[in-house]
Amino acid sequence: MIARLRRLVWVSWRPIAERAARAYVAGPTLSDALRVCDALARQGLAATICPWDGPGDPCRRVADAYLAAVHALARATLDCYVSIKAPSLGFSGDLVAELLEAARPHGCGIHFDSLGPEAADQSWALLAEAAARGGRLGCTLPGRWRRSLSDVDRAVELGLRVRVVKGQWADAGGGGAPDLDARDGFLRVVDRLAGRGCRVAVATHDHALAGQALARLRDAGTACELELLYGLPARQSLQAARAAGVPVRVYVPYGHAWLPYGLSQARRNPRILWWTMKDWLLGWRWPGAAPSV
Ligand SMILES: Cc1cc2nc3c(=O)[nH]c(=O)nc-3n(C[C@H](O)[C@H](O)[C@H](O)COP(=O)(O)OP(=O)(O)OC[C@H]3O[C@@H](n4cnc5c(N)ncnc54)[C@H](O)[C@@H]3O)c2cc1C
Repeated sequence: MIARLRRLVWVSWRPIAERAARAYVAGPTLSDALRVCDALARQGLAATICPWDGPGDPCRRVADAYLAAVHALARATLDCYVSIKAPSLGFSGDLVAELLEAARPHGCGIHFDSLGPEAADQSWALLAEAAARGGRLGCTLPGRWRRSLSDVDRAVELGLRVRVVKGQWADAGGGGAPDLDARDGFLRVVDRLAGRGCRVAVATHDHALAGQALARLRDAGTACELELLYGLPARQSLQAARAAGVPVRVYVPYGHAWLPYGLSQARRNPRILWWTMKDWLLGWRWPGAAPSV
């Protein structure tokens, strides 16, 4: 009975969640992303853009989308870097080298997003290879992964910019160990980064956590900024950044619309459906957002 009721609730929420996914991307094309970045820049907000690929997109097509983003930023006057997903490039060193070759003359940053734990070692091998070629590079460290503390040391060694997130994917769970608490893990990564000389992006919509992390980094004299996901509620996080006196950058995805939390996670965690409903009902809108249909 309860299972049937849950299924019924899920079936009626599903169209809301699918509609919500479209609110997390600037639109289907690069020009949609650039339009949003322009609107953000007018409000004093920096950006990072990422073409989100669809299921089964060939690596060459994904690389071309990243290259188009780099070339467009070279022509623009935006404070913006390109975020990429190493598994979508098939972990190809050649494709990453091509991208760096295009980005380097313009000083365009290339940032590696973090995907599932099974992709971490190959992503780090690529990052090390890329760092040896030079260029402005960044990595993402999930607070809930045990390995992230030692990955901080690798990032510092390679001179990477670091984005700290709670993490969308659970830890690989070596020896069946449970995940770290995402908030505690987040702050542990921040503490390990404080005073180490790399630029840190505190990427969370948990405004209390953002406030704590930014204060710790500021106290240690570490250059930092708040990074937010386009489409997620931002009012209180923007206040936290203002209170800490740090700049804000917005991650603007475009292309294929995925929910930042997959629908399967929304199924396990109905809070996510409430959050998406709340935004929709309150009509909070990011600068440059296309009118909803
Ligand atoms: C700029 C940026 C880049 C990221 N890059 C990566 C990455 O490369 N790899 C990775 O694994 N993860 C990445 N993430 C996702 C991150 O790991 C978390 O899954 C996500 O940010 C939600 O956690 P939170 O810290 O914002 O806190 P939460 O406690 O999950 O959320 C805080 C508040 O944000 C709002 N909120 C959160 N999620 C939603 C939602 N789906 N819809 C509506 N409201 C919501 C709610 O008001 C909630 O109370 C990124 C996040 C950001 C902000």
